[in-house]
Amino acid sequence: MSKSAAKKIQAIRGMNDLLPSDSPRWQFFEANVRQLMHRYGFEEIRTPIVEQTALFARSIGEVTDIVEKEMYTFDDRNGDSLTLRPEGTASCVRAAMEHGLLHNQTQRLWYQGPMFRHERPQKGRYRQFHQVGVETYGFEGPDIDAEVILLSARLWRELGLLDHVTLELNSLGSLEARTAYRDKLVAYFEQHHDVLDEDSKRRLTSNPLRILDSKNPAMADMLNAAPQLMDHLDDASREHFEQLKAMLDAAGIEYVINPRLVRGLDYYCRTVFEWTTTALGSQGTVCAGGRYDGLVEQLGGKPTPAVGFAMGIERLVLLLETLNLVPEAALGGCDVYLLPMDDSATVTALTLAEQLRSELPALRLQLHCGGGSFKSRMKKADKSAAPIAVLIGEDELAENSVTLKFLREEREQQRVAQADLAAMLRELVAH
Ligand code: ATP
Ligand code: MG
Repeated sequence: MSKSAAKKIQAIRGMNDLLPSDSPRWQFFEANVRQLMHRYGFEEIRTPIVEQTALFARSIGEVTDIVEKEMYTFDDRNGDSLTLRPEGTASCVRAAMEHGLLHNQTQRLWYQGPMFRHERPQKGRYRQFHQVGVETYGFEGPDIDAEVILLSARLWRELGLLDHVTLELNSLGSLEARTAYRDKLVAYFEQHHDVLDEDSKRRLTSNPLRILDSKNPAMADMLNAAPQLMDHLDDASREHFEQLKAMLDAAGIEYVINPRLVRGLDYYCRTVFEWTTTALGSQGTVCAGGRYDGLVEQLGGKPTPAVGFAMGIERLVLLLETLNLVPEAALGGCDVYLLPMDDSATVTALTLAEQLRSELPALRLQLHCGGGSFKSRMKKADKSAAPIAVLIGEDELAENSVTLKFLREEREQQRVAQADLAAMLRELVAH
């Protein structure tokens, strides 16, 4: 083999392996999410990772960061333009329409999985990242807006995150109100043309609302003084927003109104919200969503009110880790390391391990495999982090017993009959 052929192939920049040392935190988060969705009566939907490019171009909007510069788009072998999904909402709407889920019925759906965006990788920002999202269809009133916000708030509360996140809220109003506001905004920006950066100048005609979203400090004063969408809402949207706020107040959910919160995607109307944290540096948004009543129709379906959000799992797991909020029990390894002291005890150990797993379904037991000297076997027991080693040697074989060795506390080892072992472990390992 030539030298270059032997060069190790590495993962793609911004696409991470999730190693065994990380996965308990992810599993802890995912288990909480799954349980929560179940409790709120949301049903899971899974859609393909690849869709036709047109789906995203038509839903997310041509003049957005995602469609302009972040999509992984390629021609497949038939010459069809396909895209790795950059977000979940468009796919969800496509699937719901395709399978008639929106016809004369309401839906509360959730999903989770990888998303792909060609961004500059940094802490909390990757090219393959993972989201959990919810999407609801067929509900017009602000009660569902409140319900999805309460669902997210409960997740934070139950994970111990509620004190570390802030809910930012805004209303974008109806499409008509936004169009009228847009003209005012463009007129204002034109008066301040000299302050606009290149990106903003480009957006002035295509997507002026997005300029409000800019984090360029040189434009901050000008943006803060810009006319506010909140002052130009249509009456119905204003009423919708007032009701939503009253519901959140009644539920004891705190929020701040952020008039510059317009969200990066074109399809939002009325309610938009973000949960942000200051504990992660600049990638501070952990969950973002809102109402998108126009999207189903825009994709060829009947007008259907819709509300949803997506949260970034990497950022949330990082937050849990930073704040040390993953319980020890969720991180722990196994309870028991069962080891034959030499190869003559292998079969007995194997069958005993299976018996214990039948009798104690919650027990986490690792069986020593792979032989080795007694010393190396004990080293592996130690490395397993199990508090208890169960040993079977010549003597134990002869009398159908085992020896319990306590690896993490000062305690005499103990000989126990194999028949009594399950009962003994049930007491020693309290779960
Ligand atoms: P940002 O302003 O941080 O780029 P966004 O508005 O592009 O976020 P959304 O499309 O609303 O993000 O996605 C919802 C959530 O998914 C974000 O709040 C964030 O937690 C997460 N997310 C988005 N892009 C990435 C990424 N490249 N890497 C990791 N997480 C991401
Ligand atoms: Mg982005």
